[in-house]
Amino acid sequence: MDINFKYSFVNEVTEYKYLITHSQEYKQLRSVVWNPLYILLLLLFRKLYLSRAESAWKPIEPEVERAFKMLRLELPKDNLVCYVHSISCEGWYDPNKNCVHARITKCKNLGEFAGSVIHELLHLATYKNELDYNQREKIVDDYVARQPLSTIVRKIGDNPQDLS
Ligand SMILES: [Zn+2]
Repeated sequence: MDINFKYSFVNEVTEYKYLITHSQEYKQLRSVVWNPLYILLLLLFRKLYLSRAESAWKPIEPEVERAFKMLRLELPKDNLVCYVHSISCEGWYDPNKNCVHARITKCKNLGEFAGSVIHELLHLATYKNELDYNQREKIVDDYVARQPLSTIVRKIGDNPQDLS
């Protein structure tokens, strides 16, 4: 497992357009950043935020990799890209491009960010086209509740019980 964090202004704008044109889909989510000023914040401080992302993720990457192996979870490829974002929900994934997206602004702590990355990687590893949104979320939540992932998530200070 080798997750590469990247910043893309185009992806930020694309997500913002989707967010404001599909706002209803985001209404029931735990945490959503709507304010487009955050796009500017991340654009200006992208290097700082990318190094924060790395420092939150790289120390736990080997443990997460071991946990995925133990749970027989397989990612579509070993080196995946995770785009960091300023707006929208906590994270999302793209099973066509095999990449994940995670918001790094307005997290309670960096553990919450790393928890979002784990959550989205689980989506990629368990993706099945025929399932609906709720089924996919349940599968991911069930894996997060299992050892050794539950210990990792607790240790990094993410709180998946808050997820709605
Ligand atoms: Zn999810």
